[in-house]
This record gives sequence, C-alpha cells and structure tokens, in this order.
Amino acid sequence: MLKRLLNMLFREELDIQHRLLNLILSAAFIGGSVSMIATFIIDGLVSGIPTVAVILVVVIALVLSVKYNRMTLAALVITGMANLVIFPWLFFQSGGMYSGMPIWFVLGLIFTWLTLRGKLCYAMFILDLIVLIGSIYVGHIHPEFVREMPEGYMISDLVQSMVAVSVIIGVIFKYQSYVYEKQRKQILEKDAELHIANEAKSQFLANMSHEIRTPINGIIGMNTMLLEELDNGNSEAIREYAKNINSASQTLLSIINDILDISKIESGKMEVIPTEYELFSVLNDCYNMTLTRANKKNLSFVMDIDEKLPSMLYGDEVHIRQIINNFLSNAVKYTHEGKVTLRMREVSREGKDITLKFEIEDTGIGIKDEDKDKLFMNFSRVDEKKNRNIEGTGLGLSLTHKLVELMEGDIQVESEYGKGSVFTVTLAQKIVNDEPIGSFSTKYEEYIKSSNTANVNVSFPDAKLLVVDDVKMNVTVFKGLLKKTGAKIDEAYSGEECLKLIVDNHYDIIFLDHMMPEMDGVETLKRIKASNNHKNVDTPVIVLTANAIVGAREEYMKDGFVDYLSKPVQQSALVDMICEYIPRKYIIETVE
Ligand code: ADP
Repeated sequence: MLKRLLNMLFREELDIQHRLLNLILSAAFIGGSVSMIATFIIDGLVSGIPTVAVILVVVIALVLSVKYNRMTLAALVITGMANLVIFPWLFFQSGGMYSGMPIWFVLGLIFTWLTLRGKLCYAMFILDLIVLIGSIYVGHIHPEFVREMPEGYMISDLVQSMVAVSVIIGVIFKYQSYVYEKQRKQILEKDAELHIANEAKSQFLANMSHEIRTPINGIIGMNTMLLEELDNGNSEAIREYAKNINSASQTLLSIINDILDISKIESGKMEVIPTEYELFSVLNDCYNMTLTRANKKNLSFVMDIDEKLPSMLYGDEVHIRQIINNFLSNAVKYTHEGKVTLRMREVSREGKDITLKFEIEDTGIGIKDEDKDKLFMNFSRVDEKKNRNIEGTGLGLSLTHKLVELMEGDIQVESEYGKGSVFTVTLAQKIVNDEPIGSFSTKYEEYIKSSNTANVNVSFPDAKLLVVDDVKMNVTVFKGLLKKTGAKIDEAYSGEECLKLIVDNHYDIIFLDHMMPEMDGVETLKRIKASNNHKNVDTPVIVLTANAIVGAREEYMKDGFVDYLSKPVQQSALVDMICEYIPRKYIIETVE
C-alpha cells in the first residue's frame, strides 16, 4: 500500500518539478495533520478549525496533482494559499517582524520558484513578494494590527522556524540531487549498453561483409573462368566452375536467410508451424547434408538413434531440421579430427506427448567456460583468434537458440576446451504413429537402394506459360530452368505488356512478378480479374517474389494469386508447381 502510494507520488514518468511538488504537498499534509492534532489537544476544537481548512486545501491540491495530473493548478493552489493567505495571516497572529514568520516567507517564495513554470512563476513570485513585503510594511506602520507575543515565545518561534525551514530546504535539495544522480547513472548505463550494442553491430558488419564477399568473390571469379573455358570448349572445367558458382550462391543465400530469420524472430513474426512428419525423413536429410562435409574433413559421422522412437510425429519439422543442421554444421566446422555424433533419445512419453532429446557431440576444439554465456548472443563469435580461419557470422547459434525457445524447448552446452562439445536440445512433440522407427542404418540402406533405381525426368512440351518480370535476367533464368521441360514460354516485361498478351493468347499458368515499376503484380492481377475481354479468365496466376516474409503467402492468396514462389526460384520447386497447375495429360515422365 505504502509502496503503491510512493510510486504514485514519485514515479519516474513525472518530471522532477512535479515530483518536488508532490513532496512538498505530502510534507504539508503530514506537518498539517500533526499540528492539527496538537492544536486540538492543547487549545481545543475551535482553535483547530483553520488548520483543518488548510489540510483540506492541501488534499485538493494533492488530488489535482496526483490523480488528474494538473500540476500547474495544484502548484497555484498551494503557493497561493501559503503565500497569499496563511503566511500573512500567521504573520499578524504570531508576533510579526520579530517572530519566525519572515523565515517562512522566504520558504514560501522558494516554493513558487520550485513548483511553477514559465511566466506564471514570475507573475506569482511578484504577487507573493508584494503581499509578503506588504504584510511587513503594514505591520511596521500599524503595530496595533500585530498580535503581541511574550518575548520567550518569539525567541522559541524564531529558533523553531529556522530549524524547520532549513530542514525542509535541505530535504528538497537532497531529493533533487538524488533524482539527478539516479538519472545520471541510468544515462551512463544506457550509454554503456549502446556502446556494447554498437560494437557488436560493427563487428557483425565487418564479419558479414567478409562472409558475403567470400561467396560473391567465388561467383564472379568462377564465372570469369567459365566464360573463358566456353571458348576453349572444355566441358569438364565448365561443369566444375558452374558447380562452384552454385555452391557459393547457396552459401550466400543461407547467410541472407539466417539474417532474415533472426529479424523475423526479433520482430515476433516467426511462427511455429506444426505438421505431421516422418522422423526418418528428417534424420535422413540431416545425415545426407552432413555426411559429405564430414567425409571431406576425414571425420566419421555416427547416427545413434534410439530404435524405439515413434516413426511419425507432429511438430515444426522445418525448424527442427534447421536446428539439428545448424548444430551438425558447427560440429563439423569446429572439429579437425575424430568424430561427430547425432544421438537421439526419448526423455519421457505420456499418451500422445513425447519429449525428445537430441545430442550433437563432437571431438573438436571445444569452448572455454567463460565463453559459454556468449555463445547464443547475436553476431557473437567466441575464441576469435583461434577461429579466425574458420568462416562464420556468429548468427547460427543465436538463431538456433531463438528457434528452440520459440518451440518451448531447452538447449544445454557441455564442453571441454580442446576436447570437444556436446549440444543438447530437449523438445516436446506429439506422436502420430508410435510404430518404432527401427534401425537407422537399415532404413538408410533401403533408402539408398530405392533412390538409386530410377531418375525420372519430367517434361510438358504442350504447356503454354507466360512469365512477367521487369528484370530481363530473371526472365532468362526462369526460361533456362524450364528449358528441359520443353514448355512454351512467352515473356512480358511489364504489367501492361502482360495485359496485352493475354487478350489473344491462352496460357496454362501466368507467373507474375510482384515488384514492378508503374503497374505492380498485384495491380496487374486485379486488372486481369476485372476484365472478361481476354482468353485467361480461368488461368491460375502465381506470384514470383523476393518477399520471403512469413505471412506474405497469406497476403498474396487474399489478393487472388493461386500460389507463391519465392526468389531465387529453385528448379525442382518450379517444375513441381507447374505440374500441380497444368492439365495432367500434358505431363510426360521419362525414366533415365
Ligand atoms: P559461426 O557462424 O561463427 O559458426 P555460431 O553462432 O554458429 O556462429 O557459433 C558461435 C561461435 O560458437 C562460433 O564462432 C564458435 O566459436 C563457437 N562454436 C559453435 N559451435 C561450436 C562447436 N561445436 N565447437 C566449438 N566451438 C563452437
């Protein structure tokens, strides 16, 4: 209760002047109440009435200031009452010039400076000064107006007033310096925080520009070499360079995706999207992604998966893959010899609920105890001297940590510097099918056998597509990705061109870029839908966009697009999507 009251009177949103006013009002209320009780006891009920009136005015001012936030009005009420009514009245009642009252006059005038602002403060000060000096003058000319008091009373009043006023002024100054000191400390702390954040940001930018430069450098260099080899016709070299360009581009994309993911999480836009999934398929993908990298470094990679785990689960499969892959990729990156293990166990099971534990263990460089807290901070890389030759942005673990938090899981790190590390994630999932997953290695062998059997090629030479994009290179890439399929592709470089083409031509699908100058994709679609005067009333329109933000898909669907393909367009995703929207009879599958 007292804490709440103190918070209301002195909360930090109020400026210092407002808080001082509340301090003065509270002191006047307490002082007034004590004096009222004393007067009641010593002089009887009637003599206490003026004090009751004073307290009432103080209470009104307090309510105005605290409840209604009317600081100026409250200050006017209190200084007006003190300097224009109470102090002059007490001056004539308690001995005049030679009593303690002139000292109180000084306090009253200081109050005016402290509690009022601007012109009002000067005006009130002058008015107070006139009334108080006037009182002294009238008391001097007409001593008969001043109630005479015994000398002993006068001396004690003088001493009491001196003590009381100096204590009040002292408290006010102390309070003011306390608030000032507190604010100064807060500013210094904020400064230090900003400094740290700024340093992390600069460090990040430096890392990032290095990280982004490396693949871009690869892409440009490889491309130059590729162009030279084209003249020489060395197809083996061309293939090698093109593969390198592909891998550098993938690295670049994954850096940008990490940044996007972190910013999505930080702005609260990342959602957990649960689906039914096959546990083996997740583990298999993680295994495939890591195996090649581990082999390149001569590391062994062990999958230690509990055979009794359920085969089908319900949860955010995409993020689980991302989490395991991030840990595995670090494990391989920071291990020079020995092995990397992915272990998976169940911690508990109750009905359809299961808690899983993934452990990613390596025999790598390890992490110092003092660095463990920094691991999950954005952009932070630890042990940078030792790791300066290992590429990284410091985003992976922070992103992984945030994803696990988002899924209400838990991460633990155990590590011995120089010996290796174990990252453990505990996550709750739902069971869809509790049939045991069985031996991972047996299943993996089966998978390899089945995937080796046939390579299916899809083509659809009868399909007629329209691609609309203002950037010529995007159109070239789009057509290149579909070359093998034999599809007939018309191109348009603006919304307007698209609207012209659809009048005389029927298309099986229209691919429409979102961001185009003048008429963008959304506007173009609106016009397609608004008119019947063309041959594409029922044609599905798919949006092509670099806008990979969560929720964008829903927005596009609301706009009337049937689907969404994000750039950079992946060949397999594009072919799959076309197969979904063209007539089944157009699709020709050939087995190689
Ligand atoms: P980076 O892109 O630098 O790998 P991460 O956020 O993935 O960024 O990791 C942050 C830092 O944690 C790394 O720079 C590295 O120093 C340390 N680290 C992460 N995983 C391991 C590991 N398995 N063994 C040793 N150190 C690791």
